[in-house]
Amino acid sequence: MQDRRRWSVRKLVPKVIQWLAPAECLLCRETHNDRGFLCADCQRTLPRNEHACQRCATPMSHSKLHIPGAPRRSRCPACHVRPTNCERILAPFLMQGTFRELLHLWKFQNHPQLSTLMACLFATNTAVQAQPQHRQQNLNEHRILVPIPTQWHRQLRRGFDHTWLLAHALRPVLGRETRVRPWLRNTRLRRAQHRSNRADRWENHSDRFIAAAGTEGQHITLVDDVITTGATVGAAAAACKAAGATSVEVWALARTPATAHAG
Ligand SMILES: [Zn+2]
Ligand SMILES: [Zn+2]
Repeated sequence: MQDRRRWSVRKLVPKVIQWLAPAECLLCRETHNDRGFLCADCQRTLPRNEHACQRCATPMSHSKLHIPGAPRRSRCPACHVRPTNCERILAPFLMQGTFRELLHLWKFQNHPQLSTLMACLFATNTAVQAQPQHRQQNLNEHRILVPIPTQWHRQLRRGFDHTWLLAHALRPVLGRETRVRPWLRNTRLRRAQHRSNRADRWENHSDRFIAAAGTEGQHITLVDDVITTGATVGAAAAACKAAGATSVEVWALARTPATAHAG
């Protein structure tokens, strides 16, 4: 009886606090009584990468030509002809609109506490690209998370390493056995990639990373924030495979729509 009363008090207190001091949504600035950083409306309308290649997560914009009733293509034309270094890329959001705003708040406006929100958004939205019946298995079968390393001068400027925090924020979602390992190292200093053009990025990708010996024989999951051309994660996956990784999967929050690649 006493236990039951304690439980109901424990549930009631946060509800009363929410009612007395409603939270402000990070995106629309409206007050709301939902738990978390975003109101339910903003969370529901985040741009999702719903019609994406199931292998490389490239948004398939030609889906507007889809004939109702016909089966959707599961892979993009490039994945049919080109071998890739990783088994699969998951990227549940599109880097545009409100998701871009949210990512900029987290990454460039010094809000490391949003890493937990980012991890939860990834975990609750990856079903759009995984087979629903295998969703839990897909999220749990790879337990070594390797963040794509951020260069030290960018970490210094931002005040934190966003991919490292994101990987750690994913751990509680995936289970205790999940490990985060700093097994990738940048081999050279490069100018900020978000300012370089697409051609530069393809030129720069070779020998860009080196993977630690611990990678050998492991199922590696690379963690990144946004995939634009795929050159960075491709180079990181190649380094892991060269070091003997059994499989490499990539988890990113978002993928840039095809038309925005040059930016
Ligand atoms: Zn909102
Ligand atoms: Zn593809």
